[in-house]
Amino acid sequence: MEYTTVIGLEIHAELLTTSKVFCSCKNEFGGEENTRVCPRCSALPGSLPLFGRGAAVLAVKAGLALNCRVNNFSAFDRKNYFYPDLPKAYQITQFNHPICEDGYLMVGGKKIRINRIHIEEDAGKLVHDEAEGVSLADYNRCGVPLIEIVTEPDIRTADEARGFVEQVALALKYAGVCDAKMEQGSLRCDVNISIMPKGSTQFGTRTEIKNLNSFRSVVRAIEYEYSRQKQLVQSGGRVIQQTLHWNDSLGVTTALRSKEEAHDYRYFPEPDIPPLFITDDEILALGKELPVLPQSRQMRYENELGLSPADAALLISEKPLADFFEAAVEVYNNPKSIAAMILVELLRRMNDAGKNVEDIKITPNDLAALCKMADEGTVSRGAAKDILKVMFEVGGNPMEIAKQNGMLMSNDTAEVEKAADEILAANPKAVAEYKEGSGKVFGFLMGQMCRALGKSANPAIIKKVLEEKLK
Ligand code: ADP
Ligand code: MG
Ligand code: ZN
Repeated sequence: MEYTTVIGLEIHAELLTTSKVFCSCKNEFGGEENTRVCPRCSALPGSLPLFGRGAAVLAVKAGLALNCRVNNFSAFDRKNYFYPDLPKAYQITQFNHPICEDGYLMVGGKKIRINRIHIEEDAGKLVHDEAEGVSLADYNRCGVPLIEIVTEPDIRTADEARGFVEQVALALKYAGVCDAKMEQGSLRCDVNISIMPKGSTQFGTRTEIKNLNSFRSVVRAIEYEYSRQKQLVQSGGRVIQQTLHWNDSLGVTTALRSKEEAHDYRYFPEPDIPPLFITDDEILALGKELPVLPQSRQMRYENELGLSPADAALLISEKPLADFFEAAVEVYNNPKSIAAMILVELLRRMNDAGKNVEDIKITPNDLAALCKMADEGTVSRGAAKDILKVMFEVGGNPMEIAKQNGMLMSNDTAEVEKAADEILAANPKAVAEYKEGSGKVFGFLMGQMCRALGKSANPAIIKKVLEEKLK
Protein backbone atom coordinates (compact mmCIF):
# COMPACT_ATOMS: atom_id res chain seq x y z
CA MET A 1 0.00 0.00 0.00
CA GLU A 2 1.09 3.56 -0.72
CA TYR A 3 1.23 6.02 2.16
CA THR A 4 1.08 9.78 2.46
CA THR A 5 3.32 11.47 5.01
CA VAL A 6 1.78 14.18 7.17
CA ILE A 7 4.20 16.61 8.77
CA GLY A 8 3.86 19.57 11.13
CA LEU A 9 6.85 21.57 12.35
CA GLU A 10 7.68 23.41 15.54
CA ILE A 11 10.56 25.79 14.92
CA HIS A 12 12.43 27.48 17.75
CA ALA A 13 14.24 30.68 16.82
CA GLU A 14 16.45 32.64 19.21
CA LEU A 15 15.75 36.37 19.05
CA LEU A 16 18.51 38.87 18.29
CA THR A 17 17.94 41.00 21.39
CA THR A 18 20.98 42.44 23.15
CA SER A 19 19.95 41.06 26.53
CA LYS A 20 18.09 38.02 27.80
CA VAL A 21 14.31 38.15 28.06
CA PHE A 22 13.78 38.41 31.84
CA CYS A 23 17.08 39.92 33.02
CA SER A 24 19.86 42.13 31.71
CA CYS A 25 22.46 39.42 31.07
CA LYS A 26 23.93 39.56 27.57
CA ASN A 27 22.30 37.46 24.88
CA GLU A 28 25.29 36.01 23.03
CA PHE A 29 26.44 32.71 21.62
CA GLY A 30 29.46 30.79 22.90
CA GLY A 31 32.00 32.08 25.37
CA GLU A 32 33.03 30.60 28.69
CA GLU A 33 30.39 28.59 30.55
CA ASN A 34 28.27 30.31 33.20
CA THR A 35 29.70 33.78 32.61
CA ARG A 36 26.42 35.37 31.51
CA VAL A 37 24.30 34.42 34.47
CA CYS A 38 22.60 36.41 37.24
CA PRO A 39 20.21 35.67 40.11
CA ARG A 40 17.21 36.05 37.78
CA CYS A 41 18.21 33.67 35.01
CA SER A 42 19.73 31.17 37.40
CA ALA A 43 16.54 31.32 39.48
CA LEU A 44 17.92 32.20 42.86
CA PRO A 45 15.13 32.31 45.46
CA GLY A 46 13.41 35.69 45.64
CA SER A 47 14.48 36.87 42.19
CA LEU A 48 11.72 38.03 39.85
CA PRO A 49 11.60 38.14 36.04
CA LEU A 50 11.49 41.49 34.28
CA PHE A 51 10.13 41.32 30.75
CA GLY A 52 12.25 43.14 28.16
CA ARG A 53 10.04 44.57 25.42
CA GLY A 54 12.74 44.01 22.80
CA ALA A 55 11.64 40.39 22.58
CA ALA A 56 8.05 41.45 21.90
CA VAL A 57 9.19 43.83 19.16
CA LEU A 58 11.05 41.03 17.38
CA ALA A 59 8.20 38.55 17.87
CA VAL A 60 5.79 41.03 16.25
CA LYS A 61 8.17 41.48 13.33
CA ALA A 62 8.43 37.70 12.97
CA GLY A 63 4.65 37.47 12.92
CA LEU A 64 4.35 40.13 10.24
CA ALA A 65 7.12 38.53 8.18
CA LEU A 66 5.25 35.22 8.36
CA ASN A 67 1.86 36.70 7.44
CA CYS A 68 0.35 36.24 10.91
CA ARG A 69 -2.25 38.21 12.80
CA VAL A 70 -0.59 39.95 15.74
CA ASN A 71 -2.71 39.89 18.89
CA ASN A 72 -3.23 43.11 20.82
CA PHE A 73 -3.33 41.01 23.97
CA SER A 74 -1.04 38.13 24.82
CA ALA A 75 0.05 36.64 28.12
CA PHE A 76 2.65 34.40 29.73
CA ASP A 77 2.20 30.99 31.32
CA ARG A 78 4.34 28.63 33.35
CA LYS A 79 5.20 25.26 31.90
CA ASN A 80 6.35 23.12 34.78
CA TYR A 81 8.92 20.41 34.43
CA PHE A 82 12.10 19.41 36.15
CA TYR A 83 15.31 19.12 34.20
CA PRO A 84 18.91 20.06 35.12
CA ASP A 85 19.18 22.68 32.35
CA LEU A 86 16.14 24.52 33.72
CA PRO A 87 17.04 25.88 37.17
CA LYS A 88 13.58 27.38 37.88
CA ALA A 89 11.95 24.00 37.22
CA TYR A 90 9.48 25.80 34.98
CA GLN A 91 9.74 27.58 31.65
CA ILE A 92 7.97 30.86 31.02
CA THR A 93 6.09 30.60 27.74
CA GLN A 94 2.82 31.71 26.13
CA PHE A 95 0.30 28.89 26.17
CA ASN A 96 -3.24 30.22 26.15
CA HIS A 97 -2.62 33.60 24.54
CA PRO A 98 0.22 33.56 21.99
CA ILE A 99 1.46 36.81 20.48
CA CYS A 100 0.78 35.83 16.83
CA GLU A 101 -1.62 33.45 15.09
CA ASP A 102 -2.87 32.31 11.68
CA GLY A 103 0.05 32.92 9.33
CA TYR A 104 1.47 31.12 6.33
CA LEU A 105 4.41 30.89 3.96
CA MET A 106 4.39 29.70 0.37
CA VAL A 107 6.67 26.75 -0.41
CA GLY A 108 6.90 25.68 -4.05
CA GLY A 109 3.61 27.37 -4.82
CA LYS A 110 1.82 25.70 -1.89
CA LYS A 111 0.53 27.46 1.20
CA ILE A 112 1.84 26.05 4.48
CA ARG A 113 -0.24 27.45 7.32
CA ILE A 114 1.24 28.64 10.58
CA ASN A 115 -0.97 28.02 13.58
CA ARG A 116 0.80 30.28 16.09
CA ILE A 117 3.97 32.02 17.21
CA HIS A 118 4.64 32.41 20.90
CA ILE A 119 7.44 33.89 23.00
CA GLU A 120 9.31 31.75 25.52
CA GLU A 121 12.66 31.51 27.23
CA ASP A 122 15.41 29.11 26.24
CA ALA A 123 16.82 26.58 28.69
CA GLY A 124 20.51 26.10 29.50
CA LYS A 125 22.74 23.46 28.02
CA LEU A 126 24.11 20.26 29.47
CA VAL A 127 27.65 19.29 28.57
CA HIS A 128 28.18 15.56 28.93
CA ASP A 129 31.70 14.68 29.99
CA GLU A 130 32.12 11.05 28.97
CA ALA A 131 35.59 10.71 30.49
CA GLU A 132 34.51 11.83 33.94
CA GLY A 133 31.07 10.26 33.60
CA VAL A 134 29.32 13.47 34.63
CA SER A 135 27.10 16.09 33.07
CA LEU A 136 27.84 19.77 33.57
CA ALA A 137 25.27 22.53 33.36
CA ASP A 138 25.93 25.75 31.43
CA TYR A 139 23.31 28.40 32.20
CA ASN A 140 24.50 30.99 29.66
CA ARG A 141 21.55 30.13 27.42
CA CYS A 142 18.97 30.21 30.25
CA GLY A 143 16.56 33.04 29.55
CA VAL A 144 17.61 33.71 25.97
CA PRO A 145 14.41 34.83 24.22
CA LEU A 146 12.88 32.43 21.73
CA ILE A 147 9.91 32.36 19.48
CA GLU A 148 8.29 29.05 18.68
CA ILE A 149 6.60 28.84 15.28
CA VAL A 150 4.04 26.03 15.03
CA THR A 151 2.68 24.95 11.64
CA GLU A 152 -0.55 23.19 10.79
CA PRO A 153 0.04 19.61 9.57
CA ASP A 154 0.13 20.85 5.95
CA ILE A 155 3.52 19.50 4.91
CA ARG A 156 3.61 16.27 2.90
CA THR A 157 7.24 15.58 1.96
CA ALA A 158 10.75 15.92 3.36
CA ASP A 159 11.58 18.43 0.61
CA GLU A 160 8.59 20.56 1.50
CA ALA A 161 9.64 20.51 5.16
CA ARG A 162 13.15 21.55 4.23
CA GLY A 163 11.78 24.27 1.95
CA PHE A 164 9.59 25.59 4.74
CA VAL A 165 12.43 25.75 7.27
CA GLU A 166 14.62 27.48 4.67
CA GLN A 167 11.93 30.05 3.91
CA VAL A 168 11.30 30.71 7.61
CA ALA A 169 15.03 31.10 8.25
CA LEU A 170 15.35 33.53 5.35
CA ALA A 171 12.32 35.61 6.35
CA LEU A 172 13.55 35.85 9.96
CA LYS A 173 17.00 36.92 8.80
CA TYR A 174 15.58 39.62 6.53
CA ALA A 175 13.38 40.85 9.37
CA GLY A 176 16.40 41.04 11.71
CA VAL A 177 14.62 38.71 14.13
CA CYS A 178 17.04 35.78 14.26
CA ASP A 179 20.40 34.98 12.67
CA ALA A 180 19.06 31.48 11.90
CA LYS A 181 22.38 29.70 12.35
CA MET A 182 21.22 26.11 12.69
CA GLU A 183 24.77 24.93 13.41
CA GLN A 184 24.87 27.21 16.48
CA GLY A 185 21.38 26.21 17.56
CA SER A 186 19.82 29.63 17.07
CA LEU A 187 17.23 27.91 14.84
CA ARG A 188 16.05 24.41 15.79
CA CYS A 189 13.27 22.30 14.51
CA ASP A 190 10.96 19.61 15.94
CA VAL A 191 9.28 17.41 13.35
CA ASN A 192 5.84 15.86 13.96
CA ILE A 193 5.18 13.06 11.52
CA SER A 194 2.52 10.47 10.78
CA ILE A 195 1.48 8.38 7.81
CA MET A 196 -1.91 7.49 6.34
CA PRO A 197 -2.98 5.37 3.35
CA LYS A 198 -2.83 7.37 0.12
CA GLY A 199 -6.18 9.00 -0.55
CA SER A 200 -7.21 8.93 3.12
CA THR A 201 -8.03 12.13 5.00
CA GLN A 202 -7.83 10.56 8.44
CA PHE A 203 -4.43 11.45 9.94
CA GLY A 204 -2.46 8.68 11.62
CA THR A 205 -0.83 8.73 15.04
CA ARG A 206 2.18 11.03 15.05
CA THR A 207 5.63 10.85 16.54
CA GLU A 208 7.67 13.94 17.33
CA ILE A 209 11.39 14.12 16.55
CA LYS A 210 13.07 16.69 18.77
CA ASN A 211 15.71 19.31 18.13
CA LEU A 212 16.93 18.84 14.59
CA ASN A 213 19.75 21.27 13.95
CA SER A 214 20.45 21.16 10.23
CA PHE A 215 18.40 21.17 7.02
CA ARG A 216 19.99 17.84 6.16
CA SER A 217 18.96 16.19 9.39
CA VAL A 218 15.37 17.42 8.94
CA VAL A 219 15.26 15.60 5.60
CA ARG A 220 17.04 12.48 6.80
CA ALA A 221 14.98 12.18 9.97
CA ILE A 222 11.72 12.47 8.03
CA GLU A 223 12.81 9.87 5.47
CA TYR A 224 13.92 7.49 8.19
CA GLU A 225 10.81 7.95 10.31
CA TYR A 226 8.54 7.51 7.29
CA SER A 227 10.11 4.12 6.48
CA ARG A 228 10.06 3.07 10.11
CA GLN A 229 6.36 3.85 10.51
CA LYS A 230 5.52 2.27 7.16
CA GLN A 231 7.32 -0.97 8.01
CA LEU A 232 5.71 -1.02 11.42
CA VAL A 233 2.21 -0.60 10.00
CA GLN A 234 2.77 -3.07 7.16
CA SER A 235 3.96 -5.74 9.56
CA GLY A 236 0.72 -5.39 11.51
CA GLY A 237 2.05 -3.03 14.17
CA ARG A 238 0.70 0.29 15.31
CA VAL A 239 2.52 3.62 15.61
CA ILE A 240 2.44 4.86 19.18
CA GLN A 241 2.55 8.55 19.99
CA GLN A 242 6.00 9.22 21.33
CA THR A 243 8.85 11.68 21.42
CA LEU A 244 11.94 10.64 19.50
CA HIS A 245 15.55 11.63 19.39
CA TRP A 246 17.39 11.76 16.05
CA ASN A 247 20.83 10.15 16.14
CA ASP A 248 22.61 11.89 13.30
CA SER A 249 25.68 9.66 13.17
CA LEU A 250 23.66 6.42 13.14
CA GLY A 251 20.87 7.88 11.02
CA VAL A 252 18.08 6.48 13.24
CA THR A 253 15.43 7.77 15.63
CA THR A 254 15.29 6.45 19.18
CA ALA A 255 12.49 6.79 21.72
CA LEU A 256 12.83 9.44 24.42
CA ARG A 257 9.42 9.05 26.01
CA SER A 258 5.97 7.78 25.09
CA LYS A 259 2.63 9.49 25.57
CA GLU A 260 2.03 7.53 28.76
CA GLU A 261 5.20 8.95 30.26
CA ALA A 262 4.58 12.38 28.78
CA HIS A 263 4.94 15.29 31.14
CA ASP A 264 1.95 16.91 32.64
CA TYR A 265 3.20 20.46 32.41
CA ARG A 266 0.51 21.89 34.71
CA TYR A 267 0.39 25.13 32.75
CA PHE A 268 -0.92 28.11 34.65
CA PRO A 269 -0.80 31.88 34.12
CA GLU A 270 2.58 33.34 35.05
CA PRO A 271 1.87 35.55 38.08
CA ASP A 272 5.12 37.53 37.94
CA ILE A 273 4.69 39.06 34.48
CA PRO A 274 1.82 41.29 33.39
CA PRO A 275 0.05 40.55 30.10
CA LEU A 276 1.44 42.09 26.96
CA PHE A 277 -0.61 44.80 25.25
CA ILE A 278 0.32 45.97 21.77
CA THR A 279 -1.70 48.59 19.96
CA ASP A 280 -2.55 48.55 16.26
CA ASP A 281 -0.44 51.67 15.81
CA GLU A 282 2.56 49.95 17.33
CA ILE A 283 2.06 46.96 15.05
CA LEU A 284 1.77 49.23 12.03
CA ALA A 285 4.93 51.10 12.99
CA LEU A 286 6.88 47.86 13.40
CA GLY A 287 5.64 46.69 10.01
CA LYS A 288 7.10 49.82 8.46
CA GLU A 289 10.52 48.89 9.84
CA LEU A 290 10.56 45.63 7.89
CA PRO A 291 12.48 45.48 4.61
CA VAL A 292 10.85 44.03 1.49
CA LEU A 293 10.72 40.34 2.35
CA PRO A 294 12.42 37.55 0.42
CA GLN A 295 9.27 35.97 -1.00
CA SER A 296 8.03 39.24 -2.51
CA ARG A 297 11.50 39.92 -3.92
CA GLN A 298 11.54 36.47 -5.48
CA MET A 299 8.18 37.18 -7.15
CA ARG A 300 9.26 40.59 -8.37
CA TYR A 301 12.57 39.35 -9.77
CA GLU A 302 10.74 36.64 -11.72
CA ASN A 303 7.66 38.53 -12.85
CA GLU A 304 8.86 42.09 -13.30
CA LEU A 305 12.58 41.72 -13.92
CA GLY A 306 12.34 38.55 -16.02
CA LEU A 307 14.86 36.46 -14.08
CA SER A 308 14.65 32.68 -13.86
CA PRO A 309 13.34 31.25 -10.54
CA ALA A 310 16.77 29.76 -9.83
CA ASP A 311 18.63 33.03 -10.44
CA ALA A 312 16.10 34.95 -8.34
CA ALA A 313 16.45 32.42 -5.53
CA LEU A 314 20.24 32.79 -5.55
CA LEU A 315 20.03 36.57 -5.41
CA ILE A 316 17.61 36.63 -2.48
CA SER A 317 19.52 33.97 -0.53
CA GLU A 318 21.33 36.75 1.36
CA LYS A 319 19.66 40.10 1.97
CA PRO A 320 22.85 42.15 1.38
CA LEU A 321 23.29 40.43 -1.99
CA ALA A 322 19.69 41.17 -3.01
CA ASP A 323 20.14 44.79 -1.87
CA PHE A 324 23.36 45.06 -3.91
CA PHE A 325 21.61 43.68 -6.99
CA GLU A 326 18.69 46.08 -6.61
CA ALA A 327 20.97 49.08 -6.09
CA ALA A 328 22.81 48.22 -9.31
CA VAL A 329 19.55 47.81 -11.24
CA GLU A 330 18.48 51.19 -9.91
CA VAL A 331 21.47 52.74 -11.71
CA TYR A 332 21.36 50.69 -14.90
CA ASN A 333 18.03 49.13 -15.73
CA ASN A 334 19.16 45.84 -17.24
CA PRO A 335 18.39 43.26 -14.54
CA LYS A 336 19.40 40.24 -16.62
CA SER A 337 22.80 41.65 -17.47
CA ILE A 338 23.44 42.67 -13.86
CA ALA A 339 22.20 39.35 -12.49
CA ALA A 340 24.48 37.47 -14.88
CA MET A 341 27.52 39.53 -13.88
CA ILE A 342 26.78 38.97 -10.17
CA LEU A 343 25.85 35.30 -10.35
CA VAL A 344 28.51 34.16 -12.81
CA GLU A 345 31.52 36.39 -12.22
CA LEU A 346 31.15 38.13 -8.88
CA LEU A 347 29.86 35.22 -6.75
CA ARG A 348 32.64 32.97 -8.00
CA ARG A 349 35.27 35.52 -6.97
CA MET A 350 33.53 36.10 -3.63
CA ASN A 351 33.46 32.36 -2.92
CA ASP A 352 37.10 31.92 -3.87
CA ALA A 353 38.12 34.82 -1.62
CA GLY A 354 35.71 33.80 1.17
CA LYS A 355 34.09 37.24 1.14
CA ASN A 356 30.58 38.55 1.63
CA VAL A 357 29.11 41.24 -0.54
CA GLU A 358 29.40 43.69 2.38
CA ASP A 359 33.20 43.30 2.39
CA ILE A 360 33.98 43.78 -1.29
CA LYS A 361 35.52 46.86 -2.89
CA ILE A 362 32.98 46.98 -5.73
CA THR A 363 30.02 49.33 -5.35
CA PRO A 364 26.64 48.66 -7.00
CA ASN A 365 27.25 51.84 -9.04
CA ASP A 366 30.51 50.57 -10.48
CA LEU A 367 29.09 47.13 -11.19
CA ALA A 368 26.20 48.75 -13.04
CA ALA A 369 28.62 50.93 -15.03
CA LEU A 370 30.66 47.87 -15.99
CA CYS A 371 27.60 45.95 -17.22
CA LYS A 372 26.51 48.96 -19.26
CA MET A 373 29.97 49.26 -20.83
CA ALA A 374 29.91 45.59 -21.85
CA ASP A 375 26.34 45.76 -23.15
CA GLU A 376 27.04 48.87 -25.24
CA GLY A 377 30.25 47.51 -26.67
CA THR A 378 32.46 50.08 -24.97
CA VAL A 379 34.55 47.08 -23.89
CA SER A 380 34.36 43.47 -25.04
CA ARG A 381 32.73 40.77 -22.85
CA GLY A 382 36.14 39.27 -22.20
CA ALA A 383 37.58 42.64 -21.21
CA ALA A 384 34.63 43.21 -18.86
CA LYS A 385 35.57 40.07 -16.95
CA ASP A 386 39.16 41.25 -16.67
CA ILE A 387 38.00 44.64 -15.44
CA LEU A 388 35.79 42.98 -12.82
CA LYS A 389 38.83 41.06 -11.60
CA VAL A 390 40.75 44.32 -11.13
CA MET A 391 37.78 45.98 -9.45
CA PHE A 392 37.47 43.00 -7.10
CA GLU A 393 41.15 42.77 -6.24
CA VAL A 394 42.22 46.40 -6.02
CA GLY A 395 39.02 48.38 -6.52
CA GLY A 396 38.51 51.26 -8.91
CA ASN A 397 36.19 52.65 -11.50
CA PRO A 398 35.59 50.41 -14.54
CA MET A 399 36.03 53.19 -17.12
CA GLU A 400 39.37 54.23 -15.60
CA ILE A 401 40.55 50.62 -15.53
CA ALA A 402 39.53 50.12 -19.16
CA LYS A 403 41.41 53.28 -20.23
CA GLN A 404 44.53 52.45 -18.26
CA ASN A 405 44.72 49.00 -19.80
CA GLY A 406 43.86 49.95 -23.37
CA MET A 407 40.67 47.91 -23.24
CA LEU A 408 38.30 50.46 -24.71
CA MET A 409 36.99 49.18 -27.98
CA SER A 410 37.73 51.36 -30.91
CA ASN A 411 34.65 52.77 -32.56
CA ASP A 412 36.73 54.33 -35.28
CA THR A 413 35.17 52.90 -38.46
CA ALA A 414 37.77 54.48 -40.73
CA GLU A 415 40.46 52.26 -39.23
CA VAL A 416 38.22 49.20 -39.52
CA GLU A 417 37.39 49.99 -43.13
CA LYS A 418 41.06 50.33 -44.01
CA ALA A 419 41.82 46.98 -42.43
CA ALA A 420 38.86 45.40 -44.23
CA ASP A 421 40.03 46.66 -47.61
CA GLU A 422 43.49 45.21 -46.99
CA ILE A 423 42.25 41.86 -45.76
CA LEU A 424 39.68 41.39 -48.53
CA ALA A 425 42.33 42.27 -51.12
CA ALA A 426 44.72 39.73 -49.61
CA ASN A 427 42.10 36.95 -49.57
CA PRO A 428 40.40 36.90 -52.99
CA LYS A 429 39.65 33.17 -52.72
CA ALA A 430 37.73 33.58 -49.47
CA VAL A 431 35.80 36.50 -50.89
CA ALA A 432 34.83 34.43 -53.94
CA GLU A 433 33.69 31.53 -51.72
CA TYR A 434 31.63 33.88 -49.60
CA LYS A 435 29.90 35.26 -52.66
CA GLU A 436 29.08 31.70 -53.73
CA GLY A 437 27.20 31.33 -50.46
CA SER A 438 29.71 29.79 -48.04
CA GLY A 439 28.89 31.37 -44.68
CA LYS A 440 31.82 29.59 -43.06
CA VAL A 441 34.45 31.90 -44.57
CA PHE A 442 32.86 34.89 -42.87
CA GLY A 443 34.15 33.62 -39.55
CA PHE A 444 37.59 33.26 -41.07
CA LEU A 445 37.54 36.86 -42.32
CA MET A 446 36.28 38.08 -38.92
CA GLY A 447 39.20 36.31 -37.30
CA GLN A 448 41.67 37.95 -39.65
CA MET A 449 40.18 41.36 -38.90
CA CYS A 450 40.27 40.90 -35.12
CA ARG A 451 43.88 39.80 -35.29
CA ALA A 452 44.81 42.83 -37.38
CA LEU A 453 42.97 45.29 -35.16
CA GLY A 454 43.98 43.88 -31.77
CA LYS A 455 42.42 44.00 -28.32
CA SER A 456 40.47 47.17 -28.87
CA ALA A 457 38.61 45.74 -31.85
CA ASN A 458 34.85 46.04 -31.60
CA PRO A 459 33.39 42.86 -33.12
CA ALA A 460 30.02 44.49 -33.74
CA ILE A 461 31.57 47.23 -35.87
CA ILE A 462 33.89 44.83 -37.68
CA LYS A 463 30.98 42.60 -38.56
CA LYS A 464 28.96 45.50 -39.90
CA VAL A 465 31.83 46.86 -41.99
CA LEU A 466 32.72 43.43 -43.39
CA GLU A 467 29.13 42.75 -44.35
CA GLU A 468 28.95 46.10 -46.14
CA LYS A 469 32.16 45.50 -48.06
CA LEU A 470 31.16 42.00 -49.10
CA LYS A 471 27.81 43.01 -50.55
P1 ADP B 1 0.47 19.41 20.99
O1 ADP B 1 -0.38 20.45 21.60
O2 ADP B 1 0.29 18.06 21.53
O3 ADP B 1 1.90 19.81 20.82
P2 ADP B 1 -0.40 20.32 18.43
O4 ADP B 1 -1.79 20.12 17.95
O5 ADP B 1 0.00 21.66 18.90
O6 ADP B 1 -0.12 19.23 19.52
O7 ADP B 1 0.55 19.88 17.29
C1 ADP B 1 1.92 19.99 17.37
C2 ADP B 1 2.47 19.83 15.98
O8 ADP B 1 2.12 18.55 15.46
C3 ADP B 1 1.92 20.82 15.00
O9 ADP B 1 3.00 21.29 14.18
C4 ADP B 1 0.93 20.05 14.18
O10 ADP B 1 0.85 20.53 12.86
C5 ADP B 1 1.53 18.67 14.18
N1 ADP B 1 0.55 17.57 14.05
C6 ADP B 1 -0.63 17.44 14.67
N2 ADP B 1 -1.23 16.28 14.31
C7 ADP B 1 -0.39 15.65 13.45
C8 ADP B 1 -0.43 14.41 12.73
N3 ADP B 1 -1.43 13.55 12.85
N4 ADP B 1 0.62 14.11 11.94
C9 ADP B 1 1.66 14.95 11.82
N5 ADP B 1 1.75 16.10 12.46
C10 ADP B 1 0.75 16.48 13.27
MG1 MG C 1 3.86 20.71 20.89
ZN1 ZN D 1 20.56 36.89 33.92
